Amino acid sequence: MSTTGPSLRERDAHAIAQIGRLRFSPLSLVGGAGNRLIEEGGRSVLDLSGSAGAAILGYSHPAIVEAVEKSVRSMAGASLLLYPNEPAVSLAEELLRITPGKGERRVWFGHSGSDANDCAVRVLAAATKRPRFISFIGSYHGNLSGSMGISGHTAMTHTLPRPGLLLLPFPDTFRPQFSAEAVLALLDYQFETTCPPEQVAAIFLEPILSDGGIILPPPGFLSALQERCGRHGIMVVVDEVKLGLARSGLTHCFQHEGLEPDMIVFGKSLGGGLPLSAVVGPQRIMDHAPAFALQTTAGNPVATSAGRAVLAAIETEKLAERASSTGALFSDGLCALAAKYPIIGDVRGRGLAVGIDLVVDPKNRTPVPASTTAKIIYRGYELGAAFSYVGLKANVLEFMPPLTLTEKEACEGIDIVDRAIGDVLDGKVSDESVAPFIMW
Ligand SMILES: *Cc1c(COP(=O)(O)O)cnc(C)c1O
Repeated sequence: MSTTGPSLRERDAHAIAQIGRLRFSPLSLVGGAGNRLIEEGGRSVLDLSGSAGAAILGYSHPAIVEAVEKSVRSMAGASLLLYPNEPAVSLAEELLRITPGKGERRVWFGHSGSDANDCAVRVLAAATKRPRFISFIGSYHGNLSGSMGISGHTAMTHTLPRPGLLLLPFPDTFRPQFSAEAVLALLDYQFETTCPPEQVAAIFLEPILSDGGIILPPPGFLSALQERCGRHGIMVVVDEVKLGLARSGLTHCFQHEGLEPDMIVFGKSLGGGLPLSAVVGPQRIMDHAPAFALQTTAGNPVATSAGRAVLAAIETEKLAERASSTGALFSDGLCALAAKYPIIGDVRGRGLAVGIDLVVDPKNRTPVPASTTAKIIYRGYELGAAFSYVGLKANVLEFMPPLTLTEKEACEGIDIVDRAIGDVLDGKVSDESVAPFIMW
């Protein structure tokens, strides 16, 4: 680091808008390699967040480097709007091959989970002529008007939801306020009264409520919802943006729930860190009208080449199996810490999507204040690992590492989390030091 000039962190504070920041630690990056991030000054930090799950293959994975380099050297245009390009069409064909579904289906490409859910909302409303949607309190589907409008995250209450949106509580078995049965009964009651089902185009589901706190649905709950919605011609859209593509231990996270989605939304990991998202859905919806969901550089050959490299690596490197086995090792290690630290109320997740629910005391399961969560992340950063937090009460440590995480790195991660929690309980991190890192 230069001893004279301002730090990257200081320059960030003066150049990057607050509204686009979610900073959980002082980490500032100048590079990355494998499953490690390189911070200003040259220290490398184990990445247990995978850039919110986008870095499915870590950083500078040779397959992505090679695919991107090749496509950028002879760019087949820069816009899928105007001309088909080879990598985009091939990627769409591959997505159709790996996603289950009946009948003719089509793929739409975007840049982010937000625009993909946005596209899904708009095309569903237009094609079905049904204006209403259903989603969950705690769900996060994106940050553009349409996708934010069907989200139920407390951090999004600065903007009103879409008119006609029905937000249901998500049954949480760790803090059982609403049982699965109660939520299904509430839905029935809504259908009988103020939310006529024939007005509802679709229900948006996350197969695990991720930003809402890594909450797993009770067994059978999502398939019961699918069954109820199916009776009324309501489509099921599964948002696989965070949990999809091998992270859960299966290719698709919805496969754990026995769901048969009508529409599937991909993002984050699909581009391996490059901007890329996709919606896969029935042709009769996805071919609603030409020029209906246009973004000039979406589906460009560079991002879609990266996407092809990601899908290929999932198969050749057996990433679903790896996520399952490394995830089990990682979760078991964190579970073992719970015996030592009563602050760990719950360790849950699937594969390499793991959360630690932090509680004030194990009996009443009251969430810790956000400052405690932030302190553990801060200390984890000091000790050499990057991770962040989620949850409507900011009390869930989130781990979404690259699926290339090795068993050795998983053990290193467990050791850092262990020491970070111990040090915070010993009072080694002050309230002042974490005040700038309490974000949502
Ligand atoms: C992150 C996320 C999104 C939004 O994706 P962006 O790439 O941030 O636009 C949508 N849905 C889920 C479940 C997500 O986790």
